Amino acid sequence: MAWRANNRTLQILGAAEKGRYGVLAAIVYNVEHITAFVRAAESRRSPLIIQLFPSSLDQTPSLIYAASAAAKHASVPISVHLDHAQDFHQIQHVADHLPFDSIMVDMSHYEKEENLSKTSRLREYCHARGIAVEAETGRIEGGEDGIMGTGDLEGILTNAEDVEQFISAGVDFLAPSVGNLHGDYGPKGPQLDMDRLGQVFQALEGRANLVLHGTNDFSPELCRVCIEAGSPSSTSTS
Ligand SMILES: [Zn+2]
Repeated sequence: MAWRANNRTLQILGAAEKGRYGVLAAIVYNVEHITAFVRAAESRRSPLIIQLFPSSLDQTPSLIYAASAAAKHASVPISVHLDHAQDFHQIQHVADHLPFDSIMVDMSHYEKEENLSKTSRLREYCHARGIAVEAETGRIEGGEDGIMGTGDLEGILTNAEDVEQFISAGVDFLAPSVGNLHGDYGPKGPQLDMDRLGQVFQALEGRANLVLHGTNDFSPELCRVCIEAGSPSSTSTS
């Protein structure tokens, strides 16, 4: 599909996977956040994904236009992503009217079958409008701003079968549940199942990109290990 080559989020994620580096996806709540993140990305010559929560679309409806303009005029690749969109009709409205490059279609508060069928329908809707789609496999524990349900659900770790099901739903990038949390990791810090993260990446077989939620408390070292687990193995022996 021709739109894929021009989709900024897919360009950024594709280049990162190929180049074996990670890209920060940062939530913004106001214009100052956008300015600061874009300036930081430009000064480090780094790509960036700017994220908005659905609640911001109600609270500060003009913010998406500021983010989109900032992304378009930046001197580094920047895309704008809607994080944890959980409302079927809101996602359709966003896809029809707002300048997002990608949307996380988060139907994880439904049982698996309904989650998959709703994800698949919304994916079709978004793709028809040139918007890339992220989905969550398993359940990432903890709550986020204005996001319903996730705080009460027991985290369920992602397995290869989940990956296959979401790939057949046609999503472009996957957020696995491998012990990562939304919110506070507590005194022990993040306890990730790194083998599982590597297995999820292998199971994707290049059919979708891998993304990770709940990385606020990650040390630079843990970020490096995660990036390594989500990178294609080097074919060069030198
Ligand atoms: Zn998240």
